[in-house]
Amino acid sequence: MAYDYDLFVIGGGSGGVRAANRTAALGKKVGLAEESRYGGTCVVRGCVPKKLYVYASGYHEHFEDAEGYGFKVGDVSFDWNTLVSRKEAEITRLEGLYRRGLSGNEVELFDTRAELRGPHSVWLKSEDREVTAERILIAVGGTPNRHESVEGHELAITSDEAFDLPDLPKTILIAGAGYIAVEFAGIFNGLGVDTQILYRGQEILSGFDDDVRALLHSEYEKRGIRIRTHDVFAKIEELEGGRRRCHLKSGDVVDVDCVMLALGRSPLTASLGLEYAGIATDAKGYIEVDDYSRTSCESVWAVGDVTGRVQLTPVAIHESMCFVSTEYRDTPQRPDHEMIATAVFSHPEIGTVGMTELEACEAYDELNVFKANFRAMKYVLPDRDTRMLMKLIVDAKTDKLVGAHIVGPDAGEMAQLLAIPMKMGCTKADVDATMALHPSAAEELVTMYEPSYTVKAGIRSDGTPVAPVNIMEPAGNA
Ligand code: NDP
Repeated sequence: MAYDYDLFVIGGGSGGVRAANRTAALGKKVGLAEESRYGGTCVVRGCVPKKLYVYASGYHEHFEDAEGYGFKVGDVSFDWNTLVSRKEAEITRLEGLYRRGLSGNEVELFDTRAELRGPHSVWLKSEDREVTAERILIAVGGTPNRHESVEGHELAITSDEAFDLPDLPKTILIAGAGYIAVEFAGIFNGLGVDTQILYRGQEILSGFDDDVRALLHSEYEKRGIRIRTHDVFAKIEELEGGRRRCHLKSGDVVDVDCVMLALGRSPLTASLGLEYAGIATDAKGYIEVDDYSRTSCESVWAVGDVTGRVQLTPVAIHESMCFVSTEYRDTPQRPDHEMIATAVFSHPEIGTVGMTELEACEAYDELNVFKANFRAMKYVLPDRDTRMLMKLIVDAKTDKLVGAHIVGPDAGEMAQLLAIPMKMGCTKADVDATMALHPSAAEELVTMYEPSYTVKAGIRSDGTPVAPVNIMEPAGNA
């Protein structure tokens, strides 16, 4: 049977664009539909604008620290609208690059919503017509979970709106304590907004190493971010003048200019027509895929956040490249989700590779744990009270480095580089044999010769158990 396209991609974000470009470059006929802007969450309302705002929010601290180095910094002011419009110009530039790249590879672009109508059929909304393709790739990503069960949830913003607020609020309450909540708390606090975090559990950043979580918590409190734990919304109301009143389950009432929900993201699978192709989803709506990203329909694949595997841009890109390699280069390749470096762009930054101490002690009988907690040299003259953490977790039996956790300036950059030897299976002996680069903060990583403690069968050498931080069951606001 002749199809209109060899490949049709639904979604012009990181995953979809990469697959379309690579496949078209192999001489295949490729179509791609995007209903919003090219570049997807990462470029338009995620990683890229976030990092720009993180840079902006660090300047306040740089101006303060400059005095420690002899500078007299005069009056400093910040203009939110300048940041928003400069960000917008950069996003528009990047979007243009994406579009030009696709057109240059002769990918046929459709600026419209697309939905499945069968195993080989896609409906294009703007033209109200169906096109056919031998293979279809779904790369539609996700969207912030708006927690509609919370009374007054429509009065809250999400990360989608946070970048383009008409004015910088004076006060904000951010619900959630994952990547997005913690990063935005750092951004707003750094830009001078009175910032609070509202979290249902005991400690922010569940899933991260407990030492990292505790250090960031204390650093955030030092910066004036109030962290309310074990609490959730009862309801949100609008006050006269537009402020928001948050009634919490604890009985506390918090009035703020802005409420932001950062309570996870949901896949954009609603009304995508998955039923026309018999594509299975899990209980949360994520598309189920096999090891090669193939859905339960044999002519349809899915990559990126819509599959709910690891919700990170480079992972979506990698999954797409594996798809192209398997389907169009005759070289089957499964996405490898092991030992992924990740960063939280908080102030201070977090960089992490591999297992937390808790995960490692569940996977290995004996661990050697190396830790350094110190003040980075750059903060000595400004006398800034901020700590840096380096933590290495080693499987005692093989001497392999199984986890690395860093909190402090440039932690993300360090984690990216550490991921290379760790992916190669480096040992602590390799780390010890590496000459220090002096003076640097990173040299601490290669100069921690003696373990701070060992862990055997889940018990540390000082007798304390490596236990999960108690997460109180939420009172159920969602
Ligand atoms: P996360 O999963 O990181 O965090 C969600 C937060 O919401 C958690 O604190 C979670 O609590 C809380 N939560 C979830 N459900 C409820 C509920 N019903 N009631 C109260 N609290 C709830 O999601 P994010 O939205 O922050 O980020 C989405 C994904 O985007 C991340 O997983 C990450 O992969 C990616 N991302 C990556 C970034 C980076 O690489 N720097 C930056 C931003 C996003 P609990 O922990 O107790 O479950």
